[in-house]
Amino acid sequence: MEDRFTGKVVLITGGGSGLGRAAALEVAREGAELALVDVSEQGLKETAEAVAEVAPAAEVLTIVADVSNEEDVRRYVAETVEKYGRIDGFFNNAGIEGKQNLTEDFGTAEFDRVVSINLRGVFLGLKNVLAVMKRQGSGTVVNTASVGGIRGVGNQSGYAAAKHGVVGLTRNSGIEYGQFGISVKAIAPGAIMTPMVEASLKQLDPVNWEEAGRQFVSVNPMQRFGRPEEVGKLVAFLLSDQAGFINATVVAIDGGQSEKY
Ligand code: NAD
Repeated sequence: MEDRFTGKVVLITGGGSGLGRAAALEVAREGAELALVDVSEQGLKETAEAVAEVAPAAEVLTIVADVSNEEDVRRYVAETVEKYGRIDGFFNNAGIEGKQNLTEDFGTAEFDRVVSINLRGVFLGLKNVLAVMKRQGSGTVVNTASVGGIRGVGNQSGYAAAKHGVVGLTRNSGIEYGQFGISVKAIAPGAIMTPMVEASLKQLDPVNWEEAGRQFVSVNPMQRFGRPEEVGKLVAFLLSDQAGFINATVVAIDGGQSEKY
């Protein structure tokens, strides 16, 4: 087992489920001290329990907060710094899927809701965490974009706008903060079987959603969904010193899907 996170503090938004939880488990196994943020108190509790199983000695701070609310973001960063004194890794990951339909039907309120969590939330996280990392003179950020942030997928106006925006923020901040010893990168996951993807398949077909899932991934070059732990391992690598020179860019983890469109 590698030991890339001993003495390091890793802050994760959306830590109560899916990819955030998978990343938390990976870095905790390798010694990280964790601050986990989510709107779901129950999700945070379950992640903390799962971490305790794989890394009984790991320190875990859980913070209920909404990433789209500036006060909440200030608070989750302040509580993390108060407890640990620093932030070495930031997985800026919380997000929602939103409705799936044509642009004309998407709805302005839904557009604002999705962009507010998936893009504004990422910006607010960057704004507050990069200030801490700049004072330290070190740090690594991984933002969660999506294949929907680097390609046109369809039926996801809010999600597409937000995730393309996350890629833009990644390039912009990476270029600004490289000089301070900080790298900022993004991941672009394809379809990874998490509760979010399960919910979106249920939007497509509430009854036969598992069959809808099989059809959905039949066009993927690898003809399967990704696993959360595969993404967790990529995020751990990107947050580690091994990936220190990867900056202002997007790493796809999608079985090759984004090369095929
Ligand atoms: P998930 O639903 O399993 O987990 C997302 C977590 O974010 C949940 O615990 C949820 O409570 C939390 N969250 C939602 N809104 C929040 C808010 N306003 N403030 C704080 N926390 C909030 O989904 P996931 O699949 O793990 O998704 C994580 C990220 O990965 C998202 O940004 C998503 O867009 C992205 N992504 C997922 C996939 C996939 O296939 N699963 C593909 C591409 C991108």
